[in-house]
Amino acid sequence: MQKCSILRVVPRTRFPKQIASLRFSVLDSSTTEHNAEVEVVNPQLRKPDGNGTVEFGSLDSRLGISKRGPTCGTCGMKVDLCPGHFGYLRLPLPVYHYGFMADIVIILNQICKVCSRVMMHPSVCQQYRTRFKHLWREPVHRRNLHRALVAECKKVKRCPHCDALNGLVKKTHAYHISYDKFR
Ligand SMILES: [Zn+2]
Ligand SMILES: [Zn+2]
Repeated sequence: MQKCSILRVVPRTRFPKQIASLRFSVLDSSTTEHNAEVEVVNPQLRKPDGNGTVEFGSLDSRLGISKRGPTCGTCGMKVDLCPGHFGYLRLPLPVYHYGFMADIVIILNQICKVCSRVMMHPSVCQQYRTRFKHLWREPVHRRNLHRALVAECKKVKRCPHCDALNGLVKKTHAYHISYDKFR
């Protein structure tokens, strides 16, 4: 409710604004908890009598409403006006974010599994760094350059920094990443 009302009281005289830059990043756990309305701890979805959803479950009404009739437990709006609200789960063990699996595998193939440095001679690495800086406004060229960097790192089997043997990292099952040091 507060978030919606704040948007309404911003004076129109403040617009237009010029945005110099945008930065995208992954939310950390404390920000996620701060933005959330509910911690989901209840594995049940609905009450045993079938009359409504249980509190602290993943269908808790404070997360928003998905059908006509009831109102949202957070903003008090009906389904057509409630924007939906965040909740969070505490996981007992760390897991890979499925949306980043492909990128994780690419990055793991680019770095040494012993010293964590990029699997590339420092002088070549510097060349790539310079080229990336010059291409910051050219997304297509940056993507092509990144592909070239990935391909070059994949060829390297011994780390140029610590001489450790590095094998292939690949995604095996839905949530599994395998590392074969000798391949
Ligand atoms: Zn709502
Ligand atoms: Zn190394």
